[in-house]
Amino acid sequence: MNAAKALATERADVLARLDRLGATFDDIVEVARDSNLDDEHDTEGITIAADRQQVAALIAAARRQLSAVDAAEQRVRDGSYGICVSCGARIANGRLSIRPATPWCVDCAREQR
Ligand SMILES: [Zn+2]
Repeated sequence: MNAAKALATERADVLARLDRLGATFDDIVEVARDSNLDDEHDTEGITIAADRQQVAALIAAARRQLSAVDAAEQRVRDGSYGICVSCGARIANGRLSIRPATPWCVDCAREQR
């Protein structure tokens, strides 16, 4: 599979995930509104707040992934796709097939954590 195609697939996946997460988030907000659980001392209110926070974190992660896809598509256009943005080494094909949007080789990715 070529890079542009892999990135298009990745983008579609992330967008589908964002769609589902958006729906989940709306559901939680709806449930919270219906049950009027604004009281943080209410056990269920706390659960809903935690759920909402978790979904918000997943949405943020999906958005970051989408920017990574944007950046990778830009690198395909300027010819630097597959080159680590940090050290300039070639990123292994195996790694790119699993993570087509990654800007880093495996060594630099490890340092990002
Ligand atoms: Zn590197």
